[in-house]
Amino acid sequence: MFMSYEHPPYRPPSEAGSVLFRLTRGCPWNQCTFCSMYKDTPFERRPVEEIVQDIQRAKEIYGPHVTTFFFGDSNSLILDAGILEQILHSLYDNFQNIDRVTSYARAKTLCKKSLEDLRRIRKAGLTLLHIGLETGDAELLTEIRKGVTPDQMVEGCVRAREAGFEVSLYVLAGIGGEAKWQQHATGTADVINRADPHFIRIRTYVPTPYSSLYDREKNNQFQLASPETILREQYLLIDLLEVTSQYLSDHVSNYVPVYGTLPDDKTGMLETLDRAIGDLSSNESYRRSLEMKRHLTHL
Ligand code: SF4
Repeated sequence: MFMSYEHPPYRPPSEAGSVLFRLTRGCPWNQCTFCSMYKDTPFERRPVEEIVQDIQRAKEIYGPHVTTFFFGDSNSLILDAGILEQILHSLYDNFQNIDRVTSYARAKTLCKKSLEDLRRIRKAGLTLLHIGLETGDAELLTEIRKGVTPDQMVEGCVRAREAGFEVSLYVLAGIGGEAKWQQHATGTADVINRADPHFIRIRTYVPTPYSSLYDREKNNQFQLASPETILREQYLLIDLLEVTSQYLSDHVSNYVPVYGTLPDDKTGMLETLDRAIGDLSSNESYRRSLEMKRHLTHL
């Protein structure tokens, strides 16, 4: 019988088919007001020997021909370049058909790491970084306690690209609520235009218990964006984008699945959103089905 090994509790939707490894536990920042993922998990670096054992167990469980891998928890790039090199060398020694190895990374951590270290990690075989932008608006970034400025978001992404990584940026639709959706869209478009990531991924803000923004919403201090506002925000964001990126809506929280390659598919994506906005005003059951998404939990 195979022994199990320690998995990260969260991974991006696009890594659903990947083998998951836990390099750290928790989040070294752990202050974002909308996030409750690691509230009860003190941040820890796992010993390299344990991770190497996990890699060997994963090979026993899944066989040597797996092609995609993901490293958790929230910011594996906080580990020293030498440690990441050891882990990646072990991974590539055990699996010979690797296509993709990815990790979450904070933009601020990417700003602090030297370009030389980032290049070493990329050369050792980490291929793509999943980075939480959430919003590019300076005021909102401060309000949600992301701990990163718009310029640092851009710098982190640009450094990652310079080092040779693919970059996947996550936008949190609705994080400006009903009041600040326009500045959320315009600020986010500005950061994305300057960062020009390979992938832009959208997920929609859903209040989660044990987060301070959830408490503010319950106490009527934050008004959730309506479905129309979310769609108008997404329309404005796409309209302002001047990038060569894949735009993906691969999360269950999203109201309308809008996908495409920018700039070529922009017109069609805006038409899709325009139709959905029209349907919302004429079809009450459609509106109710979208509003139900606010009650999703454990995303
Ligand atoms: S959103 Fe990411 S960086 Fe912010 S607290 Fe949650 S895990 Fe940490």
